[in-house]
Amino acid sequence: MRIYKSSTTISIPQDLNLTELLHSSGEPDLHPSHLIAKDNLTNRSLTIGELRERAGRIANGLKTSYNPRDGSRWAVILPNSVEYLEVVHAVLWVGGVACPINHAIKAEEIGHAFSVTRPDFVIVYGPVLPKVLEGAGIAASELKDGGVAWDGPNIITVIERAEGYAHFPDDFLLSQKLAIPHYHDTKSRLATVHLSSGTTGKPKGVELTHYNFVSNVYQMRAHDATQLNRGTRVVAFTPYAHIANTTMPLFLGPFMGMMHHAMPSYDLETFGQLVDSNKATSFQGVPSVVLSFANTDITKRYDFSNAEVLNVGSPPFKKDIMDRLMSKAPWRLNQVYGMTEGAGYIAYQRASDKLPEGVVGHFVPNIEAVLRINDGKEDAPEGGPGELWLRGPNITRGYAFNPEANKSAFPRDGWYNTGDICTISKDGVIAVVGRTKELIKYKGFQVSPTELEGYLNSHPCVVEAGVGPWWDESQLTELPTAYVILKQHLVDERDRKNALKEIHGAIDARVSGYKKLRGGVWEVKALPKNPTGKILRKQLKDQRSGLSSLD
Ligand code: AMP
Repeated sequence: MRIYKSSTTISIPQDLNLTELLHSSGEPDLHPSHLIAKDNLTNRSLTIGELRERAGRIANGLKTSYNPRDGSRWAVILPNSVEYLEVVHAVLWVGGVACPINHAIKAEEIGHAFSVTRPDFVIVYGPVLPKVLEGAGIAASELKDGGVAWDGPNIITVIERAEGYAHFPDDFLLSQKLAIPHYHDTKSRLATVHLSSGTTGKPKGVELTHYNFVSNVYQMRAHDATQLNRGTRVVAFTPYAHIANTTMPLFLGPFMGMMHHAMPSYDLETFGQLVDSNKATSFQGVPSVVLSFANTDITKRYDFSNAEVLNVGSPPFKKDIMDRLMSKAPWRLNQVYGMTEGAGYIAYQRASDKLPEGVVGHFVPNIEAVLRINDGKEDAPEGGPGELWLRGPNITRGYAFNPEANKSAFPRDGWYNTGDICTISKDGVIAVVGRTKELIKYKGFQVSPTELEGYLNSHPCVVEAGVGPWWDESQLTELPTAYVILKQHLVDERDRKNALKEIHGAIDARVSGYKKLRGGVWEVKALPKNPTGKILRKQLKDQRSGLSSLD
């Protein structure tokens, strides 16, 4: 295989765990009184010293109350907040594994998340408790049916208290800190299990070790720290449950002295106010948000004059949007390529790079890559596109409790198949040009076609359904779109149209906001399939004519 390597190799500490990382600094003279977190959920703030102090005292309380086993799993379900940092660091300190779950998803989806992560404890934002209880019931019966023993979790509330449950952190904040642990197995010791669909199917639990995260922190610092230092101020709205906002606010931020202002949910006006009041320098944008910077007067009404860099993890923008965007604030646009399975960032442009349009940039240090074609059997011709396989210290060892998914995601000797089609130039510049995996990305969120097809196929009006992405140029995002063969008794056009609307409403009511079938439900007479009967999801978009729920 032709192996492409990062241009830089760095040394990464082999046995540094994330609690030890929290107690070290990537910047000289970073004082414990340095502010690293604020939020507008509880309006709290946190310095590095306070995080170290409080996480240690809470860890001691968790240990005293529960004496959790080494490697116990803790589902973390709460909006972006200062508490989020305390929860995750206390869990890691006590030898636990954090399993972040988006607080805005539905009970059924929480149930699935519990099935794939099997938490011993759940730390949940008070108002989400009813969904957690329902989800725990769903997971218990799902796991029981599969012959898996799971006792169900101990539940602890946070921020808003609920009668009859222990409350974080008040019930655990002891006066003494727990001793800082040291481990020799950071390469196999799990830190988090994040949810991701990978290349196919419903969300799976991505196992990320202490070493994976420590590596990504070191890789980013070595690659380009111009926007990752004590002068960096970020208004962070992407959920902390998503990898795009995990490594930075939780690990890299305290290490480098970056400040994150956590927004529990996004709205443009509040965002503008927070950019202004924080003198924000660095922005993690999804395309639809970036578009609102380009197309509204938000950058005029609030002070964006400190903006230095706008990071976007998506295909490049068209020139007219770019031009408008660049006229709005003094930022440079930085394409970022990252993924859950890589514990954060894989490649991005350095401030000093002068790169052609449409590319991402160079790999962070210590990455190895190959580009494969023909079902992974051959190397892509030099300069040509191929499916990107990765190896590196930040790459996951696999999916939790899922040998089948691991077999297909790791086709050879620890190589992870990203399911992305990329090119790599002679100078090592990577461009993402397509995807072989079935994933739909709606505004940065993963949507699994298989999951939506499961719901559609159980609807009484549906014979068979396929789900694929539809590109919406006005919002710069893919929209989950369904194509269904209707049952034959629906002959009349009006009945068929009503059935499509009925199906659309029924599915949207079952799933989280970002999974809704915004591209519509379209009637088809047949679904495009390969000779073995697999739906050719890439061809589904060509079927978008005829009757639809959007009519
Ligand atoms: P997630 O694990 O949710 O962060 O999703 C990772 C996936 O998002 C990647 O494997 C890509 O398919 C996609 N992605 C991330 N960054 C980019 C980018 N710069 N351009 C195109 N697709 C991207």
